[in-house]
Amino acid sequence: MKLIALFILFWTLTSSAWAFKTVVIDAGHGGNDRGGSWGKVYESHLALDTAFRLERYLKMKGYKVVMTRRTDKYLSLKQRSTFANKYKNAIFVSVHINKASRTGATGIETFYCGSEGKKLGQAIQDKMVSKVKVHNRGLKYARFHVLRTTKIPAVLTEIGFVSNYGDRQRLKSGKYRDEIAKAIADGIAKYD
Ligand SMILES: [Zn+2]
Repeated sequence: MKLIALFILFWTLTSSAWAFKTVVIDAGHGGNDRGGSWGKVYESHLALDTAFRLERYLKMKGYKVVMTRRTDKYLSLKQRSTFANKYKNAIFVSVHINKASRTGATGIETFYCGSEGKKLGQAIQDKMVSKVKVHNRGLKYARFHVLRTTKIPAVLTEIGFVSNYGDRQRLKSGKYRDEIAKAIADGIAKYD
């Protein structure tokens, strides 16, 4: 009986408010919408590649994964949240690459809109900045369409600037995209 009591205590302490088994991954942009680009470096391509890597790490942790897109195709913002809202015991993670007119702007940042999204975003941002040595732009509130209209906990993470030389070199490397994907997966597991 003692063991059972301990188990219940452990479960109570470690379980998050939002139970989920499925992660909806949303690779930003796609098709004719390339997102932020610099020469032939497109946000839409980098986001999709990172999304696939994230899918792999999440599956290794035992999560179910669904993706808003698995190919280089255009999806409206509404199509993305409508897709996410079909899932109940799930969370939503949108992957983007930043672009700024000031080429010195660098680093990674994560956006949320709701309270559960805030917890999820904090866990993801913390893991990314601790595992990957890049400038921490922090966790930020934003009423982005996909965050506002998705009913499950939702975050949008920007994993570097295509407009910054150092970030762009990193983003172009599969090793960096893999490290970021692993850190996002670790953040999701930390939130769970
Ligand atoms: Zn974007």
